[in-house]
Parts: sequence; structure tokens; C-alpha cells
Amino acid sequence: MNNKLKLVFVSTPIGYLGSGRGGGVELTIISLIKGLIFLGHKIILVAPKGSKVFLESRNLEIILVDGIDQPSWQHQKKTDPVTIPSNSVLPKLWETVMDLENEYDAVINFAYDWLPLWLTKTKGIKIFHLISMGAESNVMKEIISEISHLFPLQLAFHTYIQSKDYSLKTDPIIVGNGFDKENYFFNENKNGPLGWAGRIAPEKGLEDAVKIASELGEKLLVWGLIEDKEYASNIENIFTKAIIEWKGFLPTSQFQEQLGHCRAFINTPKWNEAYGNVIVEALACGVPVIAYDLGGPGELIKDGLNGFLVQPNDFKGMIKATKSVSKIKRRNCRDWFEKNATNKVFAKRVENWINKGLNKNISEDFQN
Ligand code: UDP
Repeated sequence: MNNKLKLVFVSTPIGYLGSGRGGGVELTIISLIKGLIFLGHKIILVAPKGSKVFLESRNLEIILVDGIDQPSWQHQKKTDPVTIPSNSVLPKLWETVMDLENEYDAVINFAYDWLPLWLTKTKGIKIFHLISMGAESNVMKEIISEISHLFPLQLAFHTYIQSKDYSLKTDPIIVGNGFDKENYFFNENKNGPLGWAGRIAPEKGLEDAVKIASELGEKLLVWGLIEDKEYASNIENIFTKAIIEWKGFLPTSQFQEQLGHCRAFINTPKWNEAYGNVIVEALACGVPVIAYDLGGPGELIKDGLNGFLVQPNDFKGMIKATKSVSKIKRRNCRDWFEKNATNKVFAKRVENWINKGLNKNISEDFQN
């Protein structure tokens, strides 16, 4: 029996791959494509025009689709209805998939959007959904719960804690996430600066990390796409400008190189963080992570081994943990990453999930 799969990946409609507007999903998609191709599977990627993949393989076909970006759910009210802008790329991505006429085994949706979830009910295409956020909207919460009751094997989550936001029919399938270990270099330097990375938007809580650096009389290196300019300039106005060193939104090769010099990585989310790619990228470089125990960080950080977990908004706890960071062995951080979150182990978990959903005979191990 040929156990190699042909999978259609439908990218996020929030921005083209490489724009940064899609957040962590962008890197998740690229990493997973590489991991699944390594396992011998074939991928057709359907993504917004402008997407950059930087990967050539005869097992990868890319179809680019033009259209207007979708608004992201995390910046809307929980009660807002589904919006589809005029000339939106989202329905166009799915029209493209429908035109592919079942020349594949399954479709994996990476968009946190109502339309692809609802389309699962048409049964014409076997759609699997990797849910990338906690419940940021009522209408999304409802459709995810409905799909869980109809097709429980077709949903997967990054972490348990993320999945708890939803009312699910069965135990959630957890696939974690993963990144190409060849793209991250271990850095032994214990004496670098403090770092923070993420989309610059209120749910990421940058102000708390700046406050910690300010209290310690240090600089904070900040990487990421400025999604909310007003929010960024408000933070600059609260603190002395010299504390934040804006490093911009960099490609992974440069990002990891700079990140690796940090002595500690501070992560201060204000929402149920579904996973937290940047946490694992820091660990991959050997940088210990000090984070609020809110969402994904609680499953990625093993307190005392690869960083410290602190209760959300416990400012004193964050300061204490930052001062103790030299107790964490940087090698442990890299080791945790290599064992739990490379794109190869991630691809294996996704392969198991899809095979199970397609009723293929496989092992049951979905865990991190
Ligand atoms: N990132 C990047 N360059 C930078 C800073 C961040 O490519 O200079 C990427 C990072 O690799 C990660 C993403 O931005 O994949 C942020 O994802 P995360 O899961 O941390 O949060 P999200 O934005 O999805 O909420």
C-alpha cells in the first residue's frame, strides 16, 4: 500500500506568507511543508499572491491567489459577525481548492476563519483544520464546536490549554508545532541582553516586558511586526525611549542569529496564547524563556529546566525569575526543542492525525 499522502494546504488569508501579518501560522505552514516532504508526502500549497516559500521540491506545488486580506479575529469584538470583504482572498482560496477536483487525499486548513470550517459540512472535500487560536469570537467558537461534534478527527490544536477554550465532542488532538532545527543555531553566551518578540499588538503584552527591563535598568531588544502603531507609540511614551531597542521584523535566519545572543527571552501574553512560536524559537537558540503561565507557554516551558513560568501579571515574580535566569542551562533549552518541537516530530504528529482522520492504520501517539 502506498502510504504517502497528497495534501492540499490552504494558507492564512490574513496576509501573504512572509508578510508577518499572518503571525506564527506563516512559519508553521512553511515548517510543516518541509517536515511532511521529508517524510515523502506531496503538498499543494494554495496561498495569497506574494507568498514566499523559499523551498523547491518536486513534491511541492504552489498556487497563488489574488484578493483582499481577511480581517483578523483577534482584533474584533467577541460578538462580531463573520465579515468577508469585497474581493476577499478567502473564498477565492477555497474556489481554487474546489477546482482541484479531488486529486488529493485531504485538505489542511490553516485559516482561523468561519468559511473553511463551515465548508467541512458540505462533505465534498475532506477538510482538516489546524486551529491556531483560542476562542476569540463567539461565532468561531460555535462553528469549531459544531465541527468537533460532526467530524471530531478533523480538528487539531497546538496545545491542550488552547483547546480548552472550545466545547469539543472528544479529547482534543494535540499536534504541538515544530521548526526546522537547521535554521536555528545554539548560542552558549550567557551574558547577553533581554529579548522579546511577537506581533506588536495589545494581546502580546509588550508593555509588561518593557516594565521588567526598565525596573532592572536594562535595554529590551524587541523583534516583530508593528501591527498596531498606536499601541507601540503608547508604550514608547510610557517608558524612557532608550529602553526599547526596536529590531524590526526579520527573516528567520537573521532573527534567530540576533535572538541567540539574548540571556533571557521574556514572554508576556495577555490572551490564551495558542502556542507561542517565538518561545520555541528562543529555546532552539539556547535562550531560556521567562513567561506568564497563560496558554501555550504553560505547556512549552518546564519550570526550572528551560525557563521559568510566572503567574500572569505577577510583575515581582517576573523580576525574580529574570534575576535567576543563569540557573537555567542553555543546553537544556536546545535539548527540549530538539526532542519536542522540530518540524520532523511535528510532521510525524500531523501525519498520524491525518491518517487517523482518513481511517488509515497508524499509531496513536499525538502527544508532545
Ligand atoms: N517573527 C519573525 N521575525 C521577527 C519576529 C517574529 O519572523 O523579527 C515571527 C516568528 O518566527 C513567529 C511569528 O513571528 O513565527 C510570531 O508568532 P507567534 O506564534 O509567537 O505569535 P502569533 O503572532 O501567531 O500570535
